[in-house]
Amino acid sequence: MPVNPAFGPEDAQDFAQRLLAWFDLHGRHDLPWQRDATPYRVWVSEIMLQQTQVAVVVPYFERFMQRFPDVAALAAAEQDEVLHLWSGLGYYARGRNLHRAARIVATEHQGRLPESIETLQQLPGIGRSTAGAILSLACGRPHPILDGNCKRVLARCFAVPGWPGTRAVSDRLWSLAETLTPVERVAAFNQAMMDLGATLCTRSAPACDRCPLAERCAAYAEGCPSAYPAPKPRKQAPLRTVQLLLIRDPEGRIMLERRPPAGVWGGLWTPPELPVSVNPQDWCSERLGLSVEQLEMLPPRRHTFSHFQLAMQPVLVQLATAPIRVADESGSAWVEPGKPGNLGLPAPIRKLLDELISDGPRLQGGVDPDNTRQE
Ligand code: SF4
Repeated sequence: MPVNPAFGPEDAQDFAQRLLAWFDLHGRHDLPWQRDATPYRVWVSEIMLQQTQVAVVVPYFERFMQRFPDVAALAAAEQDEVLHLWSGLGYYARGRNLHRAARIVATEHQGRLPESIETLQQLPGIGRSTAGAILSLACGRPHPILDGNCKRVLARCFAVPGWPGTRAVSDRLWSLAETLTPVERVAAFNQAMMDLGATLCTRSAPACDRCPLAERCAAYAEGCPSAYPAPKPRKQAPLRTVQLLLIRDPEGRIMLERRPPAGVWGGLWTPPELPVSVNPQDWCSERLGLSVEQLEMLPPRRHTFSHFQLAMQPVLVQLATAPIRVADESGSAWVEPGKPGNLGLPAPIRKLLDELISDGPRLQGGVDPDNTRQE
């Protein structure tokens, strides 16, 4: 049955009642951030859950809470340690923003997250939906949320055409969320919307036959739930190709550099990254004053970011002599591949270093550096 175009308050009430009755029986009630749901815990969980599934987030959340049980602990930490605990979750700007915001909360808000939605949204990394989630889930304030799951449910229930990344579609979905969000049991309602989207109203195979909203769902009535929401218009992701120099000293330690704070993998530690046109031997000699004994090309690999693909050619560079410094203030460090300490490493780099341990010395088939030049 198509949704009633004159959707009134009694319809909103019915929508909420159906959803809440389903949530009481089938929703998720025992997620780690639902226990002792303080604004801080909800905030951290919401940031981790962006673009990431619950099952992946749970162990990260628990480790994070063990180390940083409150805003003060997080604010006092070094960024390296925060990113170390974030290693593998991806989208590292989330971790950096969380840390920056914690410092602002500690210094400007006496260590308490603001309870005004406008002030909350001024903190780095907190948008309208995250602010709404913090205030509704932790404080019971009647604010709507609109994460990816909610967008999908609303776009289908009300057959909203278009891609939610556009302003017009987003405004329409926010307006629906505002209309539907009840004053009573708002935390349960918002959690129910997320749970329904995650468990029944899934992207490719919605279980409409078990859905409490089926009688109110326009996409179901049209027989094409998966047509909503419209996908993002496709654009070919550009490809960037780089060399990663795994510079190894005679004791087996690998050189890492801290990346600039902004940009891809910002603030994390990676091997030096070079354009493919640069000769690794020349670079080591000119930039580091180190002489190279042998080079070995390792199998190339790719990593997909949201806006481009990174093609990496790892080059294992064996040094003839040990470098003079083991670590310095300028953002470089020498680490044993399996023991990066507290340094935050992107997951693909951690994997690359792990492979170095499992493969052992790889230089038997190496290449004489004098005969190597990459074009
Ligand atoms: S009826 Fe189907 S498409 Fe509609 S909200 Fe429920 S699961 Fe989603």
